[in-house]
Amino acid sequence: MDDEFFMREALYQAEAAACLGEVPVGAVVVRDREIVGRGFNAPIGEQDPTAHAEITALRDAARNLGNYRLPECALFTTLEPCAMCAGAILHARVARLVYGARDPRGGAHGSIVNLFAETRLNHHTAVTGGVLADACGELLRNFFAARRRGAGSREQWPGPRGALPMLTLVGRGYCHLCDDMASALQPLLDEYGAALEILDVDADPAMTEKYDELVPVLLLGGVELCRHFLDEAKVRAVLSGIR
Ligand SMILES: [Zn+2]
Repeated sequence: MDDEFFMREALYQAEAAACLGEVPVGAVVVRDREIVGRGFNAPIGEQDPTAHAEITALRDAARNLGNYRLPECALFTTLEPCAMCAGAILHARVARLVYGARDPRGGAHGSIVNLFAETRLNHHTAVTGGVLADACGELLRNFFAARRRGAGSREQWPGPRGALPMLTLVGRGYCHLCDDMASALQPLLDEYGAALEILDVDADPAMTEKYDELVPVLLLGGVELCRHFLDEAKVRAVLSGIR
């Protein structure tokens, strides 16, 4: 189902936030069944109170599409948006919002207020809630449980810089990497003196633990893994960060 497919992509973004010690919320913006923007919650790291997953994904999409309005887009986010993000979604004229878990302490789709039902606002975004709600909520619960135990602090994750002497590509489920991707990467890797490691998580369940440590580097760099497509600028950004 499409909604679950894209919600899983938002969950990968949320995992990256967790690895950075940020509250794990992730978001993607989709147009014509293609991801055009990604973001994860990072107000601590960015020292930016507006750096919520939804706003970061909207910014990414607007830049990628060259338009501050996103009327043909759907935004998928793992948590019911807050009032700030609901405002941004409405300002961007996003056609559709899909979210996972409800946020009883701050949600603006009925948990605290319902800005999407405000008829005095002149844009209306269709809303679907509860997609993969258990998985989205579990990520948050696990994060807060780990934090109470003293684990999962920011210090445990060194960040992309110095974290890895190599770029790791991860194939997972529907997004197995093809040989074309590896050969397209090789000249870039040579240029930066970085090694390439390819993990096929599905082929080897024991890789899952390792994958959990490595995938944030890719997500942070925004490297596209799901298509036979290589964004050279983003790969360069990742490689510069880990050099
Ligand atoms: Zn928000």
